[in-house]
Order: sequence, then structure tokens, then C-alpha cells
Amino acid sequence: MANKKINKKDIGKLLNKWSQEFTVFVPSKESGVATMSKWDGKDTSFLDWYRNMVVPPKANLLPTMEKMFSFQKDKEGYHLELPVSDEQKQLIFGIRPCDAKAIAILDMTFKDAYEDPYYLTKRRNALLVGLGCTNPCDSCFCTSLGVSPGESTDVDLMLTDIGDEFLVEEITQAGKELMATASGVEEATQADEARAKEVKEASYNKVTRKIDTEGIKEKLLPAFENQDYWEKVAAKCISCGICTFLCPTCYCFDINDELVKKQGARFRNWDSCAFPVYTKMPMENPREGKWQRVRQKVCHKYEFYPMNFGVIACTGCGRCIRLCPVNWDITQTLDSVPAKATA
Ligand code: SF4
Ligand code: SF4
Repeated sequence: MANKKINKKDIGKLLNKWSQEFTVFVPSKESGVATMSKWDGKDTSFLDWYRNMVVPPKANLLPTMEKMFSFQKDKEGYHLELPVSDEQKQLIFGIRPCDAKAIAILDMTFKDAYEDPYYLTKRRNALLVGLGCTNPCDSCFCTSLGVSPGESTDVDLMLTDIGDEFLVEEITQAGKELMATASGVEEATQADEARAKEVKEASYNKVTRKIDTEGIKEKLLPAFENQDYWEKVAAKCISCGICTFLCPTCYCFDINDELVKKQGARFRNWDSCAFPVYTKMPMENPREGKWQRVRQKVCHKYEFYPMNFGVIACTGCGRCIRLCPVNWDITQTLDSVPAKATA
């Protein structure tokens, strides 16, 4: 099937067209922080400044805070009121391939033994439009995790910047339907395809940070009890939680009830295994030491998740490196895992 192309000047019209059916989200800056925001109907300046978002698009599917249900108490007991199912159809425009892969990983998590209706309802109603990366950051190491910055099949449409136009690949049937009624769309020529291939290869080669993931799970297993190693690795971490909050594959949440007199609501909100209280229980805290929490973060992604789901829960997006206030670097940790436990 031939790919399509669309002039960059027509992207605004395309987004407006899609807005008739979907709530469209595009990269934008809120207080200087790059995040996905509702399309305002005109501003496409993100096409010039956007490298990747600080807040990953997981926030569209797993909000930072979400009401699970309301409740009321009377003399007969508690009465629950479930929220109206969130069937809003959303279209997320400009997702980078690393973040699209992260959503595919979250899909596995939330479809596991327990199906999470809050996430899955939003996911079922979300269409993803990918935008190839042409200017990866120094901290990106996606190519070591099987991600190509210019390509993705984890989206409905995939766009590649070929100059004045975007080449558009229709990955899914839903993506094909999105383009079917769009105006200003033409068939891509062989020259367009050749240009897109060059752009993708150039992007791939710009990712120079690499890690060796071969056998990483097997290396981490014997290092698990090596407290000396994990203490060294964790020394400068200040347990702020930023790396986990902003990691596109992290999904931990806490649940709280807010109660005023006889009415209340249950909320869930993002939580982080970096916090000392995360595993606090009445009798003990199995991860009181910072080294244990840093170990958990690394091993969950590179050892436990692959054991359970057959895939590393890291896409090499580099956020945890870029945004850590003390320059903690997961690639240095993974590069220095001892071959054998010494403790
Ligand atoms: S962002 Fe850095 S300092 Fe904060 S918890 Fe993560 S590794 Fe530690
Ligand atoms: S662990 Fe770091 S590099 Fe990997 S997906 Fe999370 S934020 Fe990105």
C-alpha cells in the first residue's frame, strides 16, 4: 500500500478536521514544561521546537490523579457511585516512537491478570499519531532497546519529516480511516520514500549513547544481593521520584480516600518506588534503604518485567537521565553491573 504525504502548512487543518471527532492533544508548553495539551485550533509552532515531552503521554491514559468512585454513608452503610465511564475519544498527535513503545508496554501491564477498566477504557478510545524524531537528545539510548527514533508500529499513523511535507504511513485500519477524509493529502512518490528512508537512517545514527542489553537480566540476578554495588550506585540519589514519575513505562499509583462528613471519593495518584514510604507497612519496610529502592527501580525494568512479560520495561527515552537533579544515569548503572555477586 502506497504511503501518503501532507504539506506541513496543512497540519493545522488536519488537526481541526480530527477535532470534529476527537479531543486532539498536541505537544505544548505549560509553564515552560513540554507536555500534551488540548489542541487550541491554531498553534502548530510545536513542529519547530518539539524534541520530546517532559511529561510522557502516559498521562493521557493514566492521569496523575484520577477519581475512581464516590461514596456516601448513611445509617444503612456505604453507597458507591461509579464515575461515568470516560469514553472521550482522544487523538494524541506527535508521539515519539519511544513513548509509543512505552504505551504498548503499559497495555500489557494493565491487561494482565487484573484488567484495569480506567486505563483500558481510555486506551480503547485513543488514537496515536507518531512523529519521527529527527533530533534525539544526548541522553537518548532508544536504539539499544529495539526502538528506532524514526519508526514505530505502535501507533495508528506514523509521520516522517521530509522537508516541507510529512510522509504518512498508515499503520492500522483506524489510521487509514483517519486519512481517508483528510484534505490536502497526496500519494507519496518514490523520491519521498527515499527521502524518508534517509531521514530515518540519519536519526538512527544520531543516537550515539548505547548500552549492551544482551543477557542483562541474567547479569542482574546474581547482583541482586550485592549491597556494596547498589549502595555505590544509589549514593547520590536524593529519592525525589522524578525519574519514576516521568518514566513513560512506570505505572505505580497510590489510592486515597477523601472524606468530608458523610461524603467522599476514592482517588488514585501517581506514586514512586523511590519514596521511603512506598513500601511502608505496619510491621516493616522491606525497602527502607535507598540502595534497595534504586535496585528495585533498575531490576523491575531490566529483570522482573522481562521475566513476567518477556520485554524490558525501558524504552531508552532518556528522561530519567535528562531530568534527574543529581545526574543519576541508568546507563552507567547498567554498564557497571558486576559479572558475579561479591557480597
Ligand atoms: S530523579 Fe535522580 S535523584 Fe530523583 S529519585 Fe530518580 S535517581 Fe534519585
Ligand atoms: S527508565 Fe529512563 S530511559 Fe528507560 S523508559 Fe524510563 S525514563 Fe526512559
